[in-house]
Amino acid sequence: MVEIATLDGSRASLGAAEIAILRNNLRGGVILADDADYDGARRVWNGNVDRRPALIARCANAADVQHAVNFANQSGLLVSVRGGGHSAPGYGTNDGGMVIDLSPMKAINIDPDKRIARAEGGVLWRELDQATQAHGLATTGGTVSNTGVAGLTLGGGLGWLMGKHGATVDNLISADVVTADGTFRKASATEHPDLFWALRGGGGNFGVVTSLEYRLHPVSQVLGGLVLHPLDRAADMLRFYRDFCATLPDEAEAYAALLTSPEGVPMAAMVLGYNGPIEEGERVLAPARRFGQPVADLVGPMPYGARQTMLDAPNAEHGLHRYWRSAFTEQIADELIEVMVEGAARFSSPLSALFLFYLHGAITRVPAAETAFGARRAQWDFDAIGQWTEGSESATHIAWVREIWGRLEPHLQGSAYINHIAADDRPEKIRASFGENHRRLREIKAVYDKSNLFRVNSNIPPA
Ligand SMILES: Cc1cc2nc3c(=O)[nH]c(=O)nc-3n(C[C@H](O)[C@H](O)[C@H](O)COP(=O)(O)OP(=O)(O)OC[C@H]3O[C@@H](n4cnc5c(N)ncnc54)[C@H](O)[C@@H]3O)c2cc1C
Repeated sequence: MVEIATLDGSRASLGAAEIAILRNNLRGGVILADDADYDGARRVWNGNVDRRPALIARCANAADVQHAVNFANQSGLLVSVRGGGHSAPGYGTNDGGMVIDLSPMKAINIDPDKRIARAEGGVLWRELDQATQAHGLATTGGTVSNTGVAGLTLGGGLGWLMGKHGATVDNLISADVVTADGTFRKASATEHPDLFWALRGGGGNFGVVTSLEYRLHPVSQVLGGLVLHPLDRAADMLRFYRDFCATLPDEAEAYAALLTSPEGVPMAAMVLGYNGPIEEGERVLAPARRFGQPVADLVGPMPYGARQTMLDAPNAEHGLHRYWRSAFTEQIADELIEVMVEGAARFSSPLSALFLFYLHGAITRVPAAETAFGARRAQWDFDAIGQWTEGSESATHIAWVREIWGRLEPHLQGSAYINHIAADDRPEKIRASFGENHRRLREIKAVYDKSNLFRVNSNIPPA
């Protein structure tokens, strides 16, 4: 007998015979709490998420996913879907329910002539980048290399190529999905176009995506790197940065961060990139590199794959403890800068950071109603990232984020990138973040997931 958490929040139990049926059906296998590999299998990227699902369905293919979804329906289990396991609130797991774990699904196929990639639902960005870069190709992907392609894509997909090639969803050609009734469907512009629209920004609300097909672009040698300033020049740097962003062509990206150097010194950084002819990039990025008196200028030519791992330390490390808050802003007000700099001077952990990611160019030129991802204005995605090593110190570091967030929030919008919304953000923030698209998303949710089986996410209630 295994005790389980059900969809309606009550407890129930599963008998050995029922579990044996699932075991027999799944090529990838089922892991239970008393299995030797349970502890490793239940962990996700955020060490502060310490949950104990009743069973983990390791899916080796789409048929396994169908069996897992059907089993969840029959037994009333609470369900989480895990792609790369990188969700900061830990939506890739739960307490007492089932995890549909796609991590064994790693197939990648590249058609270099047609410039198309197909990746299964357990692929990570570093795996897809490596496969596409072998052909001098890439699509817009996440800036930390072990983020899952599936979760990131379903929320929209921000990355170094978004100015030139749009969001990840703007490059999605089709997706294979197992919907809540266990049916396998292909979603594209011509097949289930309503589902395809919702998948491009609606998060994990509409089914389990087993495979994604992307449009690729020629991308090889790029410019990338950080320019670092001392924290006492951070305010000037951030004021320069906000004006500099307005000058960027589509090929360029500029993010900004307040963080702590490996030597333990709080710093201000501009994180720069250019995807195009290197000489032209040098010219475009020159004002940011000439500004003030940087203590280090680490910008230089590098393969795109290397730039994709530039922010990995310490952000890719599995098991560190994390707590994030996030919102969009169309302006970097002087008051925002003031709170940022003051907050960075009091970082409770050297691994914490305040980040501004700039959205501009191609990603902003798609009409907001064309995909479920509707954040189509030039703006910054602002992230207050709490990150620390010791679980016993969680209260201190979470308090630092919450305290500074209380003072940052009045200078930010009430909406956020859906993939960065915290579990303790108000439900109105989810609604506001989907904006005008929320009503249509609710209607499509009612068609494909009336019982809200897929609810461990930034949830869209069925209409
Ligand atoms: C360090 C870090 C850096 C990040 N950088 C970026 C960035 O540069 N750009 C960006 O856009 N985002 C970024 N993100 C946010 C990231 O996109 C989300 O955390 C995303 O949800 C991670 O996807 P995953 O598959 O790894 O997560 P998981 O934890 O596996 O899942 C997260 C959510 O997606 C759903 N999901 C996952 N796989 C599937 C699937 N196959 N089918 C259906 N639903 C699924 C889950 O149910 C869950 O709700 C970053 C996050 C972190 C922690």
